[in-house]
Amino acid sequence: MALWENYYLARDISDALQALAAAKGEARLIAGGTDLLLEMQHGRHTPVDTLVDVSSIPEMRRLEIQPGSSNADERDQQGSSMFMCAA
Ligand SMILES: Cc1cc2nc3c(=O)[nH]c(=O)nc-3n(C[C@H](O)[C@H](O)[C@H](O)COP(=O)(O)OP(=O)(O)OC[C@H]3O[C@@H](n4cnc5c(N)ncnc54)[C@H](O)[C@@H]3O)c2cc1C
Repeated sequence: MALWENYYLARDISDALQALAAAKGEARLIAGGTDLLLEMQHGRHTPVDTLVDVSSIPEMRRLEIQPGSSNADERDQQGSSMFMCAA
């Protein structure tokens, strides 16, 4: 049995949202697959209808922590950076 039926490489956020909405069954975002693909291969996640790959979308390649969130406040007190970039 295939772990997924359809793989879609999204061009931008709007494209990704349309692909999620258009899926006939369960759709999951995928950013690298280091967690999700292993979980499916090892039977810890059921096969999905559609994988929507967001790894080519620039906005999906960074993580920004906004002031006001509990994590950001904690980081403020520790004097750590408020910005992280995964790209
Ligand atoms: C050998 C190995 C070593 C590792 N070592 C470390 C380590 O040292 N430190 C550490 O922190 N982690 C580590 N990890 C864990 C892994 O690298 C992280 O959890 C990483 O963040 C997975 O990112 P991914 O983009 O591959 O996730 P994926 O497998 O693509 O996705 C994981 C989950 O997030 C969802 N998802 C993906 N993108 C989005 C999105 N944009 N919005 C909402 N949901 C989304 C998916 O649907 C899925 O449920 C390791 C993993 C492996 C296999």
